[in-house]
Amino acid sequence: MRLYEYEGKIMFRAAGIDVPSFMMIKGEEEIGKIIPGVSFPAVLKAQVLTGGRGKSGGVKVVKDQAEALATARQLMGLRIKGETVDSLMVSEYIDITREMYLSITVDRSKRSYLILASPTGGIDIESLVKDNPEKVSRIYINPGEIMADYAKRKVAKALMLSGNEASLLFDLLNRMFNDVMKKYQADLVEINPLALTKDGRLIAVDSKVTIDDNVQPSIIGQLERLLGRNPSENADERFKYVQLDGNIGVIGNGAGLTMATMDLLKSLGGSPADFLDIGGGADKEVVNEAFKRILERDDIKTIFVNILGGITRCDEVAGGLIAALSTVKDAKLVVRLSGTNEEEGRKILKDAGIATYGDMLEAARAAVSLTRES
Ligand code: GDP
Ligand code: MN
Repeated sequence: MRLYEYEGKIMFRAAGIDVPSFMMIKGEEEIGKIIPGVSFPAVLKAQVLTGGRGKSGGVKVVKDQAEALATARQLMGLRIKGETVDSLMVSEYIDITREMYLSITVDRSKRSYLILASPTGGIDIESLVKDNPEKVSRIYINPGEIMADYAKRKVAKALMLSGNEASLLFDLLNRMFNDVMKKYQADLVEINPLALTKDGRLIAVDSKVTIDDNVQPSIIGQLERLLGRNPSENADERFKYVQLDGNIGVIGNGAGLTMATMDLLKSLGGSPADFLDIGGGADKEVVNEAFKRILERDDIKTIFVNILGGITRCDEVAGGLIAALSTVKDAKLVVRLSGTNEEEGRKILKDAGIATYGDMLEAARAAVSLTRES
């Protein structure tokens, strides 16, 4: 999953990495927001996922309000390499003495992290490697390790930084590595350009962050909270999800059954974490997605799946549960299956070591007591 520049910068800021101050303009109708509170010169930056926006005309320095408004109108709706610009960053303009390149990636073949560093940045890494390979240094870091001092010193040398600037870099590297890369299971954290300023600051003028596609749902949840995306708002169309504050995840088919499940849990002293209705005729994929949605939070103790088969086939649901098992991790699972293809569904789950119930009350009791024990 590739993040937008502004999202990466929100992550950087949260990690204590120095970024230019900025505001976001989402859509034509917000362009007027530029007027209050912006100091000039400023930089307008089209938010698209493709790189090289500078070269494509997506990054513009503006000297005053009139120019800012005109340029913003020009940029909004522009197409950059097939992507339509629908949001702009209005960024503080940084006086740059030197642009550098710095990134951390995961090198899967070597089972380690790889830092790429170059004293000249701004241009994309591909052209940098192609035209001036000698300027790009490679420093490997073993996984699980904190970044060793000698590795950080190598990076400082590669970037031609010393003294106080090197100390700032060491701090930046720690934050990039621990508070962005590892914390969010990123497979790339790139700062290009990393700007050195006249007053000796190191500022991340651009950000490029990609998150591992197999990232744990709880990390996605943390990220969405940080970025102010509410997972329950853009809920998948295929199921209905409402977040509550308990610790038993509830999945049911049909609104009536799901509500009854929540009521039953409450009457037994349990506390539902959500209302999630997979509807009628849900297939494996929907069940898998429903699990992921519930597990975006890391405070779920038990998941109670209550399926009354009709149009929904118990064996399809069972298949979805199996597919989702790897995301379940620490949560306990209680499954009640009854109705269409119940036997097939039970067998699938039994083979995977998951106990099932036919009776709803019995299952709800098990869910509540398992939650208490944990
Ligand atoms: P990209 O082209 O998509 O990588 O977008 P960047 O954010 O990296 O911007 C492209 C280039 O614009 C940078 O390499 C800088 O040369 C220039 N630029 C962007 N923001 C600033 C700024 O605040 N000050 C200065 N001096 N140059 C900037
Ligand atoms: Mn850049």
